[in-house]
Amino acid sequence: MTISLPIRDWGFPVGDFFLAAGPCSAESAEQVLRTARALCGVGISVFRAGAWKPRTHPGSFEGAGEQALEWLVRARDETGLPLGVEVASAEHVELCLKHRIDLVWVGARTTPNPFSVQAVADALRGTDMPILVKNPISPDLGLWLGAIERLANAGLRRIGAVHRGFSASHPILYRYAPMWRIPIELKRRLPDIPLVCDPSHISGRRDLIWSISQEALDLLFDGLMVEVHEDPSRALSDGEQQLAPDAFRSLVGRLQPKSETIEDDGLMARIKALRLEVDALDEHLVGILGKRMEVVRRLGKLKRRHGISALQPDRWREIVASRVAAGTEAGLSDAFVLQVFQSVHEEAIRQQETILENDC
Ligand code: PEP
Ligand code: MN
Repeated sequence: MTISLPIRDWGFPVGDFFLAAGPCSAESAEQVLRTARALCGVGISVFRAGAWKPRTHPGSFEGAGEQALEWLVRARDETGLPLGVEVASAEHVELCLKHRIDLVWVGARTTPNPFSVQAVADALRGTDMPILVKNPISPDLGLWLGAIERLANAGLRRIGAVHRGFSASHPILYRYAPMWRIPIELKRRLPDIPLVCDPSHISGRRDLIWSISQEALDLLFDGLMVEVHEDPSRALSDGEQQLAPDAFRSLVGRLQPKSETIEDDGLMARIKALRLEVDALDEHLVGILGKRMEVVRRLGKLKRRHGISALQPDRWREIVASRVAAGTEAGLSDAFVLQVFQSVHEEAIRQQETILENDC
């Protein structure tokens, strides 16, 4: 099913990549106007700002509501910048339509709620509003896909996905874990969906925004959404992660767009040769994994016959220690080897249990 037009065909100004920028929240007419003026001429596609803010704790600044839309419209009248606003309900959508907001997005706390997404989709039915869908905070690809499907079923044809990071169960460098494999899998399932990265919410701090943004471009993301505030030290929400306009300008200047191929036959031929080597190695790897599982199934039968458990904690500890040590010899990191063998081990246990069920 075709989900979306390419983001270049959505009708916004797009340079090397789509670029949404603006404050986390619209806080006052002056703050909105000063930030929009500062972003004029930087080449952004959309001026973003939150009018309704989904805050963790009650009593925090929850947005200025419809008044914020009025400030934004004034800024658009002066600067010509198209506007983007977060929506979480039919009422938000109605107000955005009333003020002719140019693009809306569904936030990370709304995407996982099918009732809210359906209400937004129903309110947008019959319009051709461009819409971005942020990933749910929990690393759940199904909920992200489901929200996109609801909007596509409502007839929208300019739908993009925003990768804004996922909650992690342990302390990490970032505010939200990038888990790049999830947006990459989304793109594999929906090849025509434009992917936008929000480095501000992933990093939670200004000094990491460039590296996350460049990584997204290296992974062929179609665009970025970056929080920019005229004076981040006075921001009413997300102050730590918002860039001042000057810092944003230099970020944009430093970013290097990437393309999947280039017009250099010699280079493409070298890349192709190396890919063939990788393909052959992968084929070998898959064959070996298949053989390993075959042995594991034989082991499972034997264990079953003698009433021995599928999971053997001491054996598992020994496997991890020896494989990690072998990995070090081969120049592989401990974390990578552990991750690979956790997957292999999980599958081995699953295969042994399947044998048990099938044989019963
Ligand atoms: C935002 O963009 O300001 C926002 C609230 O983002 P998220 O929904 O990703 O937390
Ligand atoms: Mn924010």
